[in-house]
Amino acid sequence: MGVAENLNEVLSEIRLAERNAGREESSVRLIAVSKTKSADLIREAYDAGQRDFGENYVQEILSKAPLLPSDIRWHMIGHLQRNKVRQIIDKVSMIHSVDSLKLAQEISKEAVKKGIVMPVLIEVNIGEEDSKSGAAPEETVSLAEEITKLPGISLKGLMCVPPVCSEPSESERYFDRLRELNIDIKDRKIDNGSVCELSMGMSHDFPEAIKCGATMVRVGTRIFGERDYSR
Ligand SMILES: *Cc1c(COP(=O)(O)O)cnc(C)c1O
Repeated sequence: MGVAENLNEVLSEIRLAERNAGREESSVRLIAVSKTKSADLIREAYDAGQRDFGENYVQEILSKAPLLPSDIRWHMIGHLQRNKVRQIIDKVSMIHSVDSLKLAQEISKEAVKKGIVMPVLIEVNIGEEDSKSGAAPEETVSLAEEITKLPGISLKGLMCVPPVCSEPSESERYFDRLRELNIDIKDRKIDNGSVCELSMGMSHDFPEAIKCGATMVRVGTRIFGERDYSR
């Protein structure tokens, strides 16, 4: 199947999961994860109506974005090094992977220089895995408080990549935990109510994530096929 068919299939599964969860239609936004995929494949998804794309590496955004229409919204979903912030600050519409105050401060500094406000999510290491980046769950609320004090940066919510589970339903307890952290942040009233996004769910578990309250799902393989890192 081609990219357009895959995309439409994923979109109808998203709409079905919204209905099953009693959620409003189109309350979940699809981020098509295009890491390692060519500009031509991204263009196929664009032509089928997709506008939000997720990338993990700064270099890939810098090389693909100039080849593609300017109304694409690029989402930085991979680990971001502080020294690369300057290169992408005015090229992405959201950074999903803020995991430290130092990174947030760097984003703030560069955004102020450009006269923009950068929407961000805190990436939470929800399974507390040594191998993963992300803020520790118990640090998340205080990190949120610090970020909301900074200029040029607007905290919109939380993101996670849960531990690999053998069954998609096993991811649900991690998704639930992320939603509870978002509620903790709301309860502190530090954000004027703007912290409401939950970026969670990938190809194998996005319906479960939607059941648990995801507002953005990040789907790559189901749209673009398996990734080949050997080339
Ligand atoms: C690669 C990636 C995805 C997409 O994963 P698929 O399993 O291909 O859907 C989502 N989120 C992050 C952070 C990723 O790195």
